Amino acid sequence: MKTKISKLETVLEEVQTPCYICEEELLEQNLKQLQYIQDETGVNILLAIKAFANSGMMPMVAKYLKGCCASGLYEAKYGQELLQKEVHTYSPAFKDDEFNEVCEVSDHIVFNSFNQLEKFKNKIHSQNSIGLRVNPEISFSPVDIYNPCAMYSRFGTTKKEFNLNVRDEYLELLDGFHFHALCEQNVEAFEDVLDHFETTFSKYFKHLKWVNFGGGLNLTQDNFEIDEFIKILKNFKSKYPHLEVYLEPGEAVAYQTGVLAATVVDIIHNNIDIALLDTSTECHMPDTLAMPYTPQIRGAKSIQNQDLQTFGTGDYVYRIGGNTCLSGDIMGDYSFDKPLEVGDKIIFEDQMHYTTVKNTTFNGIKLPDLAVLKKDGTFQVMKKFGYEDYKSRN
Ligand SMILES: *Cc1c(COP(=O)(O)O)cnc(C)c1O
Repeated sequence: MKTKISKLETVLEEVQTPCYICEEELLEQNLKQLQYIQDETGVNILLAIKAFANSGMMPMVAKYLKGCCASGLYEAKYGQELLQKEVHTYSPAFKDDEFNEVCEVSDHIVFNSFNQLEKFKNKIHSQNSIGLRVNPEISFSPVDIYNPCAMYSRFGTTKKEFNLNVRDEYLELLDGFHFHALCEQNVEAFEDVLDHFETTFSKYFKHLKWVNFGGGLNLTQDNFEIDEFIKILKNFKSKYPHLEVYLEPGEAVAYQTGVLAATVVDIIHNNIDIALLDTSTECHMPDTLAMPYTPQIRGAKSIQNQDLQTFGTGDYVYRIGGNTCLSGDIMGDYSFDKPLEVGDKIIFEDQMHYTTVKNTTFNGIKLPDLAVLKKDGTFQVMKKFGYEDYKSRN
């Protein structure tokens, strides 16, 4: 995987903030890496809409991936409309009043439990392929909020529940098993999960047509052991040649493909220098609070666990904060090459996944525009938001 080089500097002047800017060329680099995995192994890769639903970029995603995975009716409709390829819909619990429409727009439908399979088995459309999410009960996630296999997890049928509730009739209805157990993991974790999955469930594989290994892998990061991964997938395919294999990355599709651009609105002093921006962690970068993590700022160094008062005036150290009234709306502490000034642009790196899809208008903060830097170098704002967006939902 080539190191990614942003070409944003050429257009930054004209960007009105706050604004998410996706770089087409960088997204295509990721998609080509995923295409390589598909070509080498014969697996099918789907975009997890949950992570990245950016209308302007969907035509490019559709060029490389087989379709999308959706977590319910709206994502399924979105995927069907904007990608026009396969739609695989899983929901922790499908609702009666939505299920028929889910069937209409989906190819695969994945149930979370045998209860749900029992409830909806007569409402499935003939073109739907039916799966069950199983819980491989092995977990590597860094934090519980992003751990699909944490203790008492509500995702997927565990071995115990499977064995208690399985019936021949269900095995006849099922075409596939699905698991999603990882978050930001590498090959080693995948190998372990796959091993558990196989040990527990391979006795049923003869009934199936496909398996879906979920997302949560760093497929597009420089240090991902791609050759090792390809070997594991090929080995699985050779053991079970009758099974189609699906992967559904979210983060990996949009990893390092764009930024959130903001502007310094004011700089104040309260023992330390504090810059206030026209953006917000809570509204525009919620994972910085939920994970939590400190977002990278282009051209600045993050300062961790250090008393800011130990820095001198020549160090250009600032606490960077958002413009909501949430006290904790703080991106972090950073050191810059030169003093910040009101009007300066601040570029937060790697802000295309799990951001726009989670934006809120909390506190009446303006939603950032969605823009794209095209491969030919032109800058295009795809969506603009304003007061009406706040009013319409409040
Ligand atoms: C969130 C999710 C994904 C994508 O996960 P990433 O960590 O973004 O790759 C895939 N499948 C399911 C079922 C999910 O819930």
